Amino acid sequence: MKLLEELQDGKTTSRAATETCVARARALDSTLHAFLHLDKSAPERASQRDTSSLPLAGLPIAVKDVLMVEGMPATCGSKILEGFMPPFTATAVKKLQDAGAIVIGKTNTDEFAMGSSTENSAYVTTRNPWNTDRVPGGSSGGSAAAVAAGIVPAALGTDTGGSIRQPASYCGISGIKPTYGRVSRYGLAAYGSSLDSVGVLGRSVDDLVPLFEQMVGKDPLDATTVNPPDIRVSVPSDGTINGIKIGVPAEYFVTGIQAEVEGRVREAIGMLETLGAEIIPINLPHTEYALPVYYILAPAEASANLARYDGIRYTPRESEKSLEDVYRQTRGKRFGAEVERRIMLGTYALSAGYYDAYYGQAQKVRTLIRRDFEKAFERVDAIAAPIAPTTAFEVGKHGDDPISMYLEDIFTLPANLAGVPGLAIPVGFDGDKMPVGMQLMGAPFSEENLFAIGRSYQGATDWHEMKPEIAK
Ligand code: GLN
Repeated sequence: MKLLEELQDGKTTSRAATETCVARARALDSTLHAFLHLDKSAPERASQRDTSSLPLAGLPIAVKDVLMVEGMPATCGSKILEGFMPPFTATAVKKLQDAGAIVIGKTNTDEFAMGSSTENSAYVTTRNPWNTDRVPGGSSGGSAAAVAAGIVPAALGTDTGGSIRQPASYCGISGIKPTYGRVSRYGLAAYGSSLDSVGVLGRSVDDLVPLFEQMVGKDPLDATTVNPPDIRVSVPSDGTINGIKIGVPAEYFVTGIQAEVEGRVREAIGMLETLGAEIIPINLPHTEYALPVYYILAPAEASANLARYDGIRYTPRESEKSLEDVYRQTRGKRFGAEVERRIMLGTYALSAGYYDAYYGQAQKVRTLIRRDFEKAFERVDAIAAPIAPTTAFEVGKHGDDPISMYLEDIFTLPANLAGVPGLAIPVGFDGDKMPVGMQLMGAPFSEENLFAIGRSYQGATDWHEMKPEIAK
């Protein structure tokens, strides 16, 4: 990463770099609305610490507002957490801070990360830096916009069903959704606990890796984390991908996908072949069930997780007269429509009499989806596929039609259901000059392979260097 090298070489200081980021955020945010909280004292904090010998050397970053950072408000894009100050810092953020990173602020998100556009944020809708009439994607849309607009070199996001990869794709940047369990979720407001992952967005693969390396590893505070015994590395890291096997799943190239998205992704696959990869057609036969399975399991888990916002803790209170009144004023008034919808869907799917038909059945089909991937990774090192059926859509396009919004997630949900890592990289533009992304998915704990393939691709192309007008 260029800025990191400059910091390490003493060509710039953390204070100066942080000042630049904060100034850019202040200049652009009335247009982009990427931030929910900007810490103007970040440069001061940067100057108080000598981070020069640390791996991240005072690098300024932004953090999605579903991750707790001590000293900064955490809203999760929801009115139910308005004014909440977390008393501790999420492990993933803490590890970056310990490595020298400076958090400049918290980025906008769909409420509790439920959405694909940031339009479900209770505060603002973030705008796409390539065209401010369009959404940046979501739910990590604030982080994606902040990186694409050149405000920060990298930002943290979370991905439960695509929320790192899809906004990275919509904003023309790179993003890594790690293997389930590779990065601690301690201090992340839980959405779907069997699906949630914390990852990084940055302009290029080279920008992701230094942060990713600091974030991974077992955390006693998150029992789902592991130090993987066998990190799968079959791809050399020297930029050559000769003979590397890349699977292309037929189920990801279906009717309804925007022709230019398919075109750019196929060109990118062609480039991987030119670079020496062997392209192998594969099948992931249960892909079409990912959508109904996810939209049962994620709301079911959310309905349980969001029970902790009980109106007694976390939420500002007036002088309610009864317990029922407390609920009305807090949960009743402060959850947005999409969050309410998910809680109702999830509660229904878990209720006695329906549990087996919905939740139980969805769990079984989830296993079939995971097995599809297991089988595929017996034959290939990675899978290349589109991230979303279209490029970034216009703000308001999906209006009050949640199903049409859910359909945008079809290609990202399977990786979360299977727990496998996914790397998003930019691969070109459509006719409206909106970015197109491609994802590389790998077996569990094979992020290093994905980075090696991504680096090889970015060594031969310059899509990751393209910047929107606003970033120039
Ligand atoms: N768009 C999906 C949803 O609304 C995924 C969100 C996410 O990954 N956090 O649930």
